[in-house]
Amino acid sequence: MSKNNAGIVTVDWKPDKSETLPLPNQIVKYIIDKISKGDWLVGDRLPCQRELAKILGVNRSTLVIAIAELVAMGIIESNFGKGTKIVNTTWSLFMSSAPPNWKSYINSGIHNPNVPTIQVINRLEYKKGIIRLSTGELSPNLIPHDMMEEALISVAKRANSLNYLEPLGLINLRQALSNYLSRYGIHVPPSCILIVSGSLQALHLISIGMLKPNSTIFTERISYLRSLRIFQSVKMNLQDVPMDKSGIIPAKIDTRHLSSGDSLLYTIPTFHNPTGIVMPERRRIELLEWCKINQVPIIEDDAYRDLWFDHVPPLPLKSYDQHGVVLYLGTISKSLAPGFRLGWLVGPEAVIEHLGDIKMQIDYGANSLSQWALTEWLESGMYDKHLEILRPKLIERRDITLQILERHFKNIATWSTPKGGFYIWLKLNTKINTAKLFNLAAESNILINPGSIYDVVENNCIRISYSYAEIDELIVGLQRLADLIKNITYKDYREICS
Ligand code: PMP
Repeated sequence: MSKNNAGIVTVDWKPDKSETLPLPNQIVKYIIDKISKGDWLVGDRLPCQRELAKILGVNRSTLVIAIAELVAMGIIESNFGKGTKIVNTTWSLFMSSAPPNWKSYINSGIHNPNVPTIQVINRLEYKKGIIRLSTGELSPNLIPHDMMEEALISVAKRANSLNYLEPLGLINLRQALSNYLSRYGIHVPPSCILIVSGSLQALHLISIGMLKPNSTIFTERISYLRSLRIFQSVKMNLQDVPMDKSGIIPAKIDTRHLSSGDSLLYTIPTFHNPTGIVMPERRRIELLEWCKINQVPIIEDDAYRDLWFDHVPPLPLKSYDQHGVVLYLGTISKSLAPGFRLGWLVGPEAVIEHLGDIKMQIDYGANSLSQWALTEWLESGMYDKHLEILRPKLIERRDITLQILERHFKNIATWSTPKGGFYIWLKLNTKINTAKLFNLAAESNILINPGSIYDVVENNCIRISYSYAEIDELIVGLQRLADLIKNITYKDYREICS
């Protein structure tokens, strides 16, 4: 990524002090090069001089000489207090080789950029030393390396060709998934299963392959779906549905937004992301009935199903579906390996064939090696063995996290005990600017997902995950986070009183 969400370019280069070319000249050359190649655009800003000098490993005076040179050339504009901005790419220097107007091309694309906070999260996740308190993945320590090795060795023997695969995905994998799904009451042949490159791709395929612009996607008011721009990018409207402790409330769906043939309902009924809510069986049947009567298909996102702790959750909506109302999404990302980039979409044959046909035009199928590897995990019984080992480890992490919260957050937040999945939905007691908290936490090397990225409004909540950070990181990170919250609350309180 060459830019952060504030339009400040990323600099990951240092001048070479052993070169004969003086340092300011090297810096000038580097900046001109970035602009002339189209990496940096007119309007982009450079980091502030203090920071830039630090990144480049030079004295401020060296940088000042380089900046003055670039200003004199009309390439950048340096305003006191407003930073340094790239102002022109068509000056004489580049007359013969001015790059295309990439900014205009970028702004013309159909797909919206990510939510700015998510862009920052995606980048900071890989910053050295950062404590990831909200990451929705298993820690690498929870992935069984011995079993993975065994599976990959078998793959080397079984995957005798790495040619393209059939349009719906590897038949062995679809058969293994058909067997796996039948334990959850979903009885479908392999022809009703499409292998996708992560369940995100299934959402993308549905958005481009099945809906008209202006369609309505009903969804839980607070939802993972809000943190994406998939449906909005193709001009569809997300319509929030109120929730209670049982999840989405069908009776509260605003029927004014219903129009036949172009509405859908997206839900995460089991270990909901981010609230952790599990929809009870009764509500599932009620929701299915409502959707059947109103002819609204459901996308059931069941990403966290296998991660239950003490009790198996109610069966998926899909298992009660006698009328082909539900498109069911599963993924291996949460319970085993997001790097496989494998998910599955289950639905009526006509829909699966159509979306499979579109997928062939987009990427000619999901990665064949991953498909063989997952087949091996499922067929050999290793996946079930792994889940049996994983569950107590996740329970231990959840319990320790709850103890830490009890110690440091008792007077500043409330939460519920999750019965599965990865998340604790922390509701802060006082109104607090979570964007400010996010920035302060990041400065203290703590990465959090503020609740507002899952909501239509600022909501005073934080998604905490116990699946990724190690216990010692959770102890340090959560205490640091609690201190920051107390500090902000105290400062805000003082500001109100003064
Ligand atoms: N659905 C839900 C509810 C999720 O939480 C996630 C991952 N955050 C996904 C889908 C995407 O998963 P995948 O890696 O399969 O694309």
